[in-house]
Amino acid sequence: MSAEAQPKHYDFIVIGGGPGGGACAMRARSFGKKVAIVEYTEHYGGTCVNLGCYPKKLMWYAADLAEKSRDYPAYGLSDTQTSPEFDWASFKHSRDNWVKDHATAYAANWLHAGVELIKGFAQFVDKNTLQITEKDGSQYLIKADNICIATGAKPAFPSDEEIPGASLGIDSDGFFELPVQPKRIAIVGAGYIAAELAGIFHALGTEVHLLIRQETVLRTFDITIQETLTSWMEKGVHIHKNTQVKNVEGTKGGILTVHTDKGVSMEADTLLWAVGRKANIDGLGLDAAGVKTNKQGDILVDEYQSTSTSGITAIGDVCGRPSLTPVSVAAGRAVAARLFGPPAFSEEVLSYEFIPSVVFTHPTIGAVGLTESEARQQYGDGVKIYSSSFNALYFDLLPKKEPSVYKLICVGDEEKIVGLHIIGQGSDEITQGFAVAIRMGATKRDFEKTVGIHPTSAESLIFML
Ligand code: NDP
Repeated sequence: MSAEAQPKHYDFIVIGGGPGGGACAMRARSFGKKVAIVEYTEHYGGTCVNLGCYPKKLMWYAADLAEKSRDYPAYGLSDTQTSPEFDWASFKHSRDNWVKDHATAYAANWLHAGVELIKGFAQFVDKNTLQITEKDGSQYLIKADNICIATGAKPAFPSDEEIPGASLGIDSDGFFELPVQPKRIAIVGAGYIAAELAGIFHALGTEVHLLIRQETVLRTFDITIQETLTSWMEKGVHIHKNTQVKNVEGTKGGILTVHTDKGVSMEADTLLWAVGRKANIDGLGLDAAGVKTNKQGDILVDEYQSTSTSGITAIGDVCGRPSLTPVSVAAGRAVAARLFGPPAFSEEVLSYEFIPSVVFTHPTIGAVGLTESEARQQYGDGVKIYSSSFNALYFDLLPKKEPSVYKLICVGDEEKIVGLHIIGQGSDEITQGFAVAIRMGATKRDFEKTVGIHPTSAESLIFML
């Protein structure tokens, strides 16, 4: 083999240029290592930047503004245009431009820091060697002492064999491609994506049918959150409970008829599947490297994010752990610091305890730590619950009375707070600070001793009885 044909060697290769992979590579580079990111798509910044968090949050802002515009008269703004029309196509254009700019900036940051970007699809040949296939089909090998898999996840979609006509629907990726706003939409699922998109469509004036398998949405959340959100959503969204799709008729892009196992059928311009996500492992050649997955296809990792093969780590959604951007970023940074940082970082791991999470529903939700049922399983009678239900001051002048419900889960005589669950206006921004306190071991007494900020909704967490 000639010298030119030798595979290029790196200290560290990260497969996948999402937020986790990017953060991992950048931190490794900060320790002076020779680092490359392999990314097949041009979706630099991954799902979060291109098909998830950011463009979704921009849509949520639009929906929030649309909702608030209906409150103008109650706040003395009756001379303004009270029911502005939402121009989906024009907003999509602005949103898409934002995404393009930020994806480009992501890659530019890597290059600026000295991280090499390899545009191609990576497949393991062995535990230290990857075959890269470029878009034009050309192939070559690269090698590294350490490789991190950060390929993320993609929407799960039932097959036409499972549900005839399922492929007439779209998934959350397709949501971002919709050129026009559907007048009627059927959304299947009860998780984060289904609840958030149902809220956005409803606020923007689409007739929404939400098909859920059980009685409530967000079933992994505390029961109080599930029940509060479900009953509030029911005021505007047609929620079809204990319902599954039997089959779908129609033509792609045309009007669809969704038939359910309850004998109910509905017409919709769009059917959107939001039934979970699955790890992006297809074609990676994990077997060639001895990397093991669980039955769902998530890569198995230990607390250090190490896979079953030494020298190969995995972070983020591909491991099936909380599929949240900050989780993959924190895990990626920890991996790079542990592998390449000074000895002080040799035990660096991400603690999966007390990871806060927000759902951008209407109203928003924040959660940290254990749900009531998890706490009771773990601590039995040692659990004490504090809760409070109210309407934020904002709604005092409105006929609409959006609920705020707050719940604290405390344990032991000292009433250490092990869970916080809030729904109501502003919950998205309130949760972060409380997550810090809870992670530091705050007790109910610590909350009580903190002076409230008045008048806010958040102060209700300080005074709960
Ligand atoms: P989730 O795991 O949150 O929810 C999947 C949902 O699919 C569940 O409600 C489940 O229902 C339902 N489901 C599964 N199979 C079927 C079926 N055959 N028919 C009907 N319903 C079905 O997945 P998402 O896709 O909503 O989101 C993926 C992940 O992305 C989330 O877990 C989250 O980590 C992340 N995310 C985070 C956001 C944020 O931080 N704000 C926003 C969006 C996504 P059931 O309740 O009956 O089990």
